[in-house]
Amino acid sequence: MLSDTFMTDVVIIGGGIVGLATALQVKQQRPGLKVILIEKEPDVARHQTGHNSGVIHSGLYYKPGSLKATNCIRGYKMLIDFCDAENIPYDLCGKIVVATKQEELPQLETLYQRGLLNGLGGLKKLSLAEMREIEPHVTGVAGMFVPQTGIIDYKQVSDKYAQKFQSLGGEIHLNERVEQITPGTSLSIVVTNKDRYETKLVVNCAGLYSDKMAQLTQPGGVDVRIVPFRGEYFKIKPQKEYLVKNLIYPVPDPNFPFLGVHFTRMVHGGVEAGPNAVLAFQREGYKKSDINLKELFETLAWPGFQKVAAKYWETGLGEMYRSFSKSAFTKALQALIPEVQESDLEPGGAGVRAQACDRTGGLLDDFAILETDKAINVVNAPSPAATSSLSIGKTVSEKVMIRF
Ligand SMILES: Cc1cc2nc3c(=O)[nH]c(=O)nc-3n(C[C@H](O)[C@H](O)[C@H](O)COP(=O)(O)OP(=O)(O)OC[C@H]3O[C@@H](n4cnc5c(N)ncnc54)[C@H](O)[C@@H]3O)c2cc1C
Repeated sequence: MLSDTFMTDVVIIGGGIVGLATALQVKQQRPGLKVILIEKEPDVARHQTGHNSGVIHSGLYYKPGSLKATNCIRGYKMLIDFCDAENIPYDLCGKIVVATKQEELPQLETLYQRGLLNGLGGLKKLSLAEMREIEPHVTGVAGMFVPQTGIIDYKQVSDKYAQKFQSLGGEIHLNERVEQITPGTSLSIVVTNKDRYETKLVVNCAGLYSDKMAQLTQPGGVDVRIVPFRGEYFKIKPQKEYLVKNLIYPVPDPNFPFLGVHFTRMVHGGVEAGPNAVLAFQREGYKKSDINLKELFETLAWPGFQKVAAKYWETGLGEMYRSFSKSAFTKALQALIPEVQESDLEPGGAGVRAQACDRTGGLLDDFAILETDKAINVVNAPSPAATSSLSIGKTVSEKVMIRF
């Protein structure tokens, strides 16, 4: 039985970093609006935001002019300013990107040129000897230093967004799952497992369930589905942490939307290696054994996914093999640091990425926001959305302002 009915201007679905940043930006831009954020978990940042690599991305990888490029670069600055103002620790330690084979050199050059076009100053091409001055244990053909990259704890950032949003009068309703949305002419009705909301606008930032929420706001349907890709990490044992000073990335496969397994020094200490990218059999399934047959069937039945599977089966099988074989995972890491041994790695956590896939088999490369009369749906906000969160929040908030 529903206990309460709330009247509000804006309902935001999802207390991940994107929903929280949006909530904060809306309240900062228009303090008079009543804004309620609904989150199904007992705390914020329990899914993608709390299971990521904790990297502040520079904007290197993204096509100039794309939403990823513009929001990452603007969001980077906004994030740093926010953390400075709120005393949130971060470390702009820089990273190296390493070409481990001759064939990767053209793609390394493409990244360098993209970085320049995206306005990154201080990029430096590196020989192996120069790479070793930065990371003494690395190997490779050539590389690049990216000084802007940093490390941070995005859960800590999210908690602060939440606190500031609430201090401006925003409400966060935890432990409430949105189950139904009925768009109306002046008000939409949002029903959760507990309460009922009458709202002028719905903003969907539901991450791994953003397609489901978008379907509810748009009964005709939206033509994208979230395909969940789990990313598993190993931790380097403390006695071998000396092998990695900061961040070491491979040159990514340009046809695949993920960056490849990398080494990351964490802001609170320790070094992680990963994440790989395997199809998750459950949207919020963090263990290999987690399986939700309904969700898995929906993914497999989506025509776009079938095309993705046909296109990337080889890469996918390799990722799957590395997921089950620690020695294969270690081998991938040894391409960057030959001294790393299987015995140096202990299981770390895992995260699941929400990657939107269209009907024709395109994995959406860019951030995507779909609008209807009564709803704004953030349907694709994968990496670097944590870095870009304040900028995405600002973009969405500007769309909200147009409607009030
Ligand atoms: C393995 C991994 C590594 C990554 N590394 C980085 C990185 O280093 N740097 C970077 O910038 N980005 C990184 N990312 C990407 C980044 O973490 C995500 O882009 C970002 O966290 C997305 O935030 P979000 O708020 O959209 O989603 P989420 O954090 O997933 O939040 C969505 C929220 O919606 C809630 N929700 C869903 N359905 C409902 C419902 N029906 N009712 C109520 N609530 C609901 C969920 O419980 C959840 O809390 C990484 C992601 C992963 C998975």
